[in-house]
Amino acid sequence: MINNCPFCKSENTKQYLKLKDYFLTQEDFEIYECADCKLLFTTPRPGKSEIGRYYKSENYLSHNEHRKGFVPWLYKHVKKVNMKNKFDIAFADDYVGRDKVRLLDYGCGVGDFLSYAKRHGCFVYGCDTSEDARRFAAEKLKAEIYDPSELSTLPDWRFDVITLWHVLEHVHDIGELVNEFHRILADNGRLVIAVPNYKSYDAAHYKDKWAAYDVPRHLYHFHKESLINIFRDKFKLVKIKPLKWDAFYISMMSEKYSDNRNSFIKGLFYGRKSNKKAKKTKEYSSLVYVFSKI
Ligand SMILES: [Zn+2]
Repeated sequence: MINNCPFCKSENTKQYLKLKDYFLTQEDFEIYECADCKLLFTTPRPGKSEIGRYYKSENYLSHNEHRKGFVPWLYKHVKKVNMKNKFDIAFADDYVGRDKVRLLDYGCGVGDFLSYAKRHGCFVYGCDTSEDARRFAAEKLKAEIYDPSELSTLPDWRFDVITLWHVLEHVHDIGELVNEFHRILADNGRLVIAVPNYKSYDAAHYKDKWAAYDVPRHLYHFHKESLINIFRDKFKLVKIKPLKWDAFYISMMSEKYSDNRNSFIKGLFYGRKSNKKAKKTKEYSSLVYVFSKI
């Protein structure tokens, strides 16, 4: 079987890792590496019409906000801090004020990030593949939430900031989307992309059990070079920032997949270790890339 690279179409690809969908179906998958553009991709790759069944889990959309106890409390608290961190990364530059910014969150889910941004002065717009999520977010935010197919109908230079928080790795047609973002982003706008980083210490430690491989929901797996390469023709890198909380969350999930006891404590331990190692290597568990338009 030839596994062409889904981005650059190269046939020069080879197996990188064998693993399972540990989160849901326990089905077998492989990850291949493209020798030309360095992208890692999941194979076999469920098409747009088949992938829905891999999301059929109550856990995936984490609606656990009403649970009581220490862990849910901590989760909620971390989520809040994380949200502020994300917002600060997306809006830290002085290129644009925080007020009256038109923000599009692509893959907005039920609109948590948009809700935070709205409270901080942004005009918010969302986009999501899930009809339920769109309806929920539109009602909560009183905002326009698009189906991905609607993006092509929007006018040029519509948005000042476009964010994707752990979304790009789920998108089937990345090349097409890059072009669309370039068209709908204002000339001095920013494109903000957060993805897991398989060059991190926690990825190396957990190997096939690393929760951020999350096959087949994650169709791609990025490191700095391959991620920047995808945007190279249309966008220029402004900066890269870490999402340090992700190391803890991903390590805890990975411990669960490894059937280890005390996954919470061990996850804390390895999450901390990953962040510590990354101080030197800069290979944090999750990275945020901020781009400007060329
Ligand atoms: Zn390639």
